[in-house]
Amino acid sequence: MSSSVIDFIATEARFGAQNYAPIGVVLSRGEGVWVWDTDGNRYLDCLSAYSAVSQGHCHPKILAAMVEQAHRLTLTSRAFHNDQLALFYEEIAALTGSHKVLPMNSGAEAVESAIKSVRKWGYEVKGVPDGQAEIIVCANNFHGRTLGIVGFSTDPETHGHFGPFAPGFRIIPFGDAAALEQAITPNTVAFLVEPIQGEAGVVIPPAGYFTKVRELCTANNVMLVLDEIQTGLGRTGKLLAEQHEGIEADVTLLGKALSGGFYPVSAVLSNNDVLGTLRPGQHGSTFGGNPLACAVARAAMRVLVEEGMIENAARQGARFLEGLKDIRANTIREVRGRGLMLAVELHPEAGRARRYCEALQGKGILAKDTHEQTIRIAPPLVITSDQVDWALERLATTLTQDFS
Ligand SMILES: *Cc1c(COP(=O)(O)O)cnc(C)c1O
Repeated sequence: MSSSVIDFIATEARFGAQNYAPIGVVLSRGEGVWVWDTDGNRYLDCLSAYSAVSQGHCHPKILAAMVEQAHRLTLTSRAFHNDQLALFYEEIAALTGSHKVLPMNSGAEAVESAIKSVRKWGYEVKGVPDGQAEIIVCANNFHGRTLGIVGFSTDPETHGHFGPFAPGFRIIPFGDAAALEQAITPNTVAFLVEPIQGEAGVVIPPAGYFTKVRELCTANNVMLVLDEIQTGLGRTGKLLAEQHEGIEADVTLLGKALSGGFYPVSAVLSNNDVLGTLRPGQHGSTFGGNPLACAVARAAMRVLVEEGMIENAARQGARFLEGLKDIRANTIREVRGRGLMLAVELHPEAGRARRYCEALQGKGILAKDTHEQTIRIAPPLVITSDQVDWALERLATTLTQDFS
């Protein structure tokens, strides 16, 4: 480690809130699937900023759109119209087949906005008595870090000592349609769920789960809210993960890759009257829907489609998963994935996943552990076959080491 690296890390530790424990690498440049540290070492990015950089680092077309827009107009607030928002609405609606769009910034804000909207829909359209709305969520969920959201997290790290929390949430096991059926009451307004639980370690529900979920929600007039902030926009090899199940959510949440990593942009999409219940003055955001965000998101969506990134995610994801399954190592308990949302779960005896991620760093791969035993692998969707094979070679040699 050079002295400059020590300095960046030590300075962060001295002044910053210690709410992260980063791997010891200081990055200063990125291009496509690659990032470089301050010493000029190159790494294959297998985290993609938790899937926000799906289009690859510093995509030239998104960059050009951002720079061009930044020269013209960046922020007007929604007190006035701007000449980018309508185009963003039109293009995201056409891409996803949605009718209404609410632009926000972070993923957590999109989730909060959806919670507010489905409650309002519950009172004004479904006829739930005021203050009684219930939302069903799943154990081991991850929907963000705001107070409303962490209150219904089941991870003690996430909610411990942050209470008191808002009532109105009911927690059921993920992947269990019978549990959903039992939990629904006349006051249930929504079921909020991730198509694949990302932060929980890429947990894929049993086949047919979402078909049953869709039926139950429709039968009980419950809004199905899919949090596709991580799974959406091609990550799983389809535009939306719901397409693997052949269903359509009532409300879809997007974020992360919606800006290709340039700027926080999120959106609530609905194909019914949920967003229609919001009237002027009842919800908003100073930065939500600003022209810079809209121009960036428009370019991010365009390159995803024009450059075939979704198809590439399906193709390279299948290759990556096959390759991971072929690795014969006692350390591996299970390999899971859909598209380029992959995970290797280690045996408890193999030692902590963090050690393997640090070893991978030494071989030129940046990946992130989650929940002690799982290595998450989610490279940008522009990865090539050669790069997948290059990563697999290094993963194979690392996973056959023993760090217990
Ligand atoms: C990352 C994530 C969020 C939160 O997004 P932020 O932009 O970090 O607020 C919400 N839901 C899911 C599924 C996520 O992966």
